[in-house]
Amino acid sequence: MTYKNTLEYAKQQDKDDQLSSLRNRFHIPKDKNGKDWLYFTGNSLGLQPKSTKEYINQELEDWANLGVEGHFEAKNPWLNYHELLTDTMAKIVGAKPIEVVVMNTLTTNLHLLMVSFYRPTKTKYKIVIESDAFPSDRYAVQSQLKFHGFDEEVGLIEWKPREGEELLNIEDLETILEFEGDEVAMLLIGGVNYYTGQFLDLKRIAEIGHKKNCVVGIDLAHGAGNIQPDLHNSGVDFAAWCSYKYLNAGPGSLSGLFVHEKHSDNKELPRFGGWWNHNKETRFNMRQPFDVMQGAEGWQLSNPPILSMAAIKASLDLFDEVGMEALREKSEKLTGYFEFLINEIGSDDIKIITPSNPKERGCQLSIQVKNADKSLHKKLTERNVITDWREPDVIRCAPVPLYNSFEDVYKMVLILKDLL
Ligand SMILES: *Cc1c(COP(=O)(O)O)cnc(C)c1O
Repeated sequence: MTYKNTLEYAKQQDKDDQLSSLRNRFHIPKDKNGKDWLYFTGNSLGLQPKSTKEYINQELEDWANLGVEGHFEAKNPWLNYHELLTDTMAKIVGAKPIEVVVMNTLTTNLHLLMVSFYRPTKTKYKIVIESDAFPSDRYAVQSQLKFHGFDEEVGLIEWKPREGEELLNIEDLETILEFEGDEVAMLLIGGVNYYTGQFLDLKRIAEIGHKKNCVVGIDLAHGAGNIQPDLHNSGVDFAAWCSYKYLNAGPGSLSGLFVHEKHSDNKELPRFGGWWNHNKETRFNMRQPFDVMQGAEGWQLSNPPILSMAAIKASLDLFDEVGMEALREKSEKLTGYFEFLINEIGSDDIKIITPSNPKERGCQLSIQVKNADKSLHKKLTERNVITDWREPDVIRCAPVPLYNSFEDVYKMVLILKDLL
């Protein structure tokens, strides 16, 4: 790709972009003067599709008009509402429908998955995570270690970047497993690291873990709707992700859960039960002994919040319309342009810590600014550039192919350059 550092060029790229009209399908927050924010935090909270209100209203109306009958008589009957989300969600993460369900929230799902897949013994009980794991994931695995009676310090192994580096090297994971693998029960790794934006090779991670008989789980919070993780073929045992980041389903919205097909029929896996993972056919019979459902649905517990699912459906229908291939294609160009412009600033004080290989990243770039402090983030915000600050000196920016433009990226870098 040969990019040009001019506003004209950026505008031309938007004109040539087949997906540029999708931006109009989203609410873009504006400043007091009605000017669009330059919104780069789709990695934290995705913007609202204009259709979301309509989807939620449909359920509010059906509830108003039908009451309990809505479970069967609503336009989208609530009883099986989650099934309307499965196929698209499965496509987004590269899974088979039997492997995916939408339920609960992310950290809750990680725990439910660990109930089944983290089965430590006295000698094989350790958990490997990335040293820069998202805090919630770290707390989750620490509490699992404690719950099973292990020391959370001894039991937790961190996969760290090498001295003086920011990114993880897969060979170091291999080394950890080579030396300590016999004591490791589970790997729980962020597929796309929330801090560096590094997209790891899930297939290799699965192979490395399985070679030592470890269970392999992936947190895809920063991957779902951003990269194509090809979960089924990667062979990982389980995964979970939230829907409010790149999946634009609204604050605190529900999580997606993946359990690989190889575990679909394993009724022996220990798990918690509720009426929603009991066989659909006899669920309302209420007197049957517990008969767990096949596949990922067999991890559900409760009847789910339909209003939140309606917001997910609004967003997933958009994804279905566009497809991940087209989104990824634009995303690589857009983030490539962003990278080009940052490099054009030509300052030694700026370093992009995200991998430069498009296959090893999603849309996010994490930009390290030497000697900067949080006031830089504040100044960006004052100029309508919404980014994410991470101590001590990193700005995380995610140009999202669904609603960010080449012009957004151009203007953002111009402002950043000005502030430096
Ligand atoms: C966003 C995020 C979470 C948030 O968890 P919730 O249970 O949805 O609050 C957890 N882990 C990772 C890696 C995240 O990026």
